[in-house]
Amino acid sequence: MTRFPQVEVRASHGGHGVFVLEPVTAGARILEFVGPRVGRDEVERAAAAGVGDGFLQIGEDEFYALSGGPDDFVNHSCAPNTHIHCVAGQYFLIASRDIASGDELYFDYGVTQIAFPFRFHCLCGAANCRGPIGNYDEIPAALMNEYRALGMVPPHVEAALASDA
Ligand SMILES: [Zn+2]
Repeated sequence: MTRFPQVEVRASHGGHGVFVLEPVTAGARILEFVGPRVGRDEVERAAAAGVGDGFLQIGEDEFYALSGGPDDFVNHSCAPNTHIHCVAGQYFLIASRDIASGDELYFDYGVTQIAFPFRFHCLCGAANCRGPIGNYDEIPAALMNEYRALGMVPPHVEAALASDA
């Protein structure tokens, strides 16, 4: 039975973020995404209505909506310390490297997104910050190769990359 590390949701970047309250080892599961799964039509409706995006894409037309838990609040960074990993149909946030107690958790939203109806302008301040964040195919090839080598690309985007090739 996996014990997830303790996390805390608190103010960050003018909104909320998720922080670990204990050190986490590279490869460890940090949390599971548990929101209801919805289709593209619901996400498109939210985008058209100008409702805030809180969707995590897990298939070309499949998404997690908000759960009400900490999985709703993990912020994006262009230099992330976590990534999304699928095990037997469950989606987990995984430590991409060792993470110190008190650090905020980030993943690269772009690596999950295919024709995603929301965009935002990143201000993460990383040396390689991409600015506007959209879909997987906007990520520079060298960075995507690095993500793939580290197992940081979820299955639906790996499949899209395979069909692009
Ligand atoms: Zn950035």
